[in-house]
Amino acid sequence: MDLRSLSIEELKNELVSMGEKPFRAKQIYEWLHKKCAHSYDEMTNISLDLRKKLSEKFEFGAFEIVRMQESKIDGTRKYLFGLGDGNMIESVFMRYHHGNSVCISSQVGCRMGCKFCASTIDGLVRSLTPGEMLGQIYEIQRHTGERVSNVVVMGSGEPMDNFDNIVKFIGMLTDENGLNISQRNLTVSTCGLVDRIRELADKEFQITLAISLHATTDEKRRELMPIANRYSIKEIMDACSYYFDKTGRRITFEYSLVSGVNDSEEEALKLSKLAGPLHAHINLIPVNPIKERDFEPSKDRKIAAFQNKLEKNGINVTIRREMGRDIDGACGQLRRKVLQEP
Ligand code: SAH
Repeated sequence: MDLRSLSIEELKNELVSMGEKPFRAKQIYEWLHKKCAHSYDEMTNISLDLRKKLSEKFEFGAFEIVRMQESKIDGTRKYLFGLGDGNMIESVFMRYHHGNSVCISSQVGCRMGCKFCASTIDGLVRSLTPGEMLGQIYEIQRHTGERVSNVVVMGSGEPMDNFDNIVKFIGMLTDENGLNISQRNLTVSTCGLVDRIRELADKEFQITLAISLHATTDEKRRELMPIANRYSIKEIMDACSYYFDKTGRRITFEYSLVSGVNDSEEEALKLSKLAGPLHAHINLIPVNPIKERDFEPSKDRKIAAFQNKLEKNGINVTIRREMGRDIDGACGQLRRKVLQEP
């Protein structure tokens, strides 16, 4: 197990079983989760002996930066990290007016098979541990020297397919002994695993849940997202209203606009009928073309008409500002590129 995946309670139990005082847990936890330490060597108020004992039992779990690309357009940075077992994952650092945001991966690869997404092309390798999800934020905060205030789980992988680890991650990210990020500043995005959405609702977190909808009928959705064969839009909407009732948090629908596929005004109207009763917020994303597929983003004029139709129907809508297009910004692009290099 990696040391960064231990909750403060688990760390306390480990230390006590090693014959240490419980207060050491807080010190070590702070090194890991507040000061974003990168190795046992940095824990200067912990005895060499204890550091050695810990290192015999736990991998530290720090990453190396395999590659970092910074956008010349907007300063967005894409990081490719190397994990202890040789796998690689991507994370993105974005600067906004309201603070710095990091987009993290939840799995190495993905098994959901969405047609426009690069992360899923070679399937799922494995899920990330809570420490590996946190680690992406810590490494970026360390490397940039800037505080991260918002986190979105919208990188590679399906977070609801890594449920227990995501739940633990949420607890640790928002723990006052760690980065202490507010639950309201965390967004988790899912392609719509209905049973897990309900389970997450039962946790009553104050996070934002984003649903990748991308279509307004089951037929169309099945063309884009294999998960639509498993769950209908109706089932997703029911789970969303359960989520809203349980948590009081408005859902976000993500809708990637693909030219000629899902960007008609008729679809905008259908989408407003889905979003309206839930008071859902809609985030339109012009699809980011990947070289393995021939999806093209909708034209600006189409996007504007789509947005207009939603607004006229009283729907709260934003167009996702494109960031990092020049740095393989979309899910899974950089990892694929590097894996294909000789
Ligand atoms: N598996 C989760 C989270 C990862 S993807 C989910 O499905 O929500 C984050 C968002 O980016 C999803 O809405 C996904 O459908 C979308 N996405 C992936 N690749 C994209 C691309 N090339 N262009 C536009 N949106 C994309």
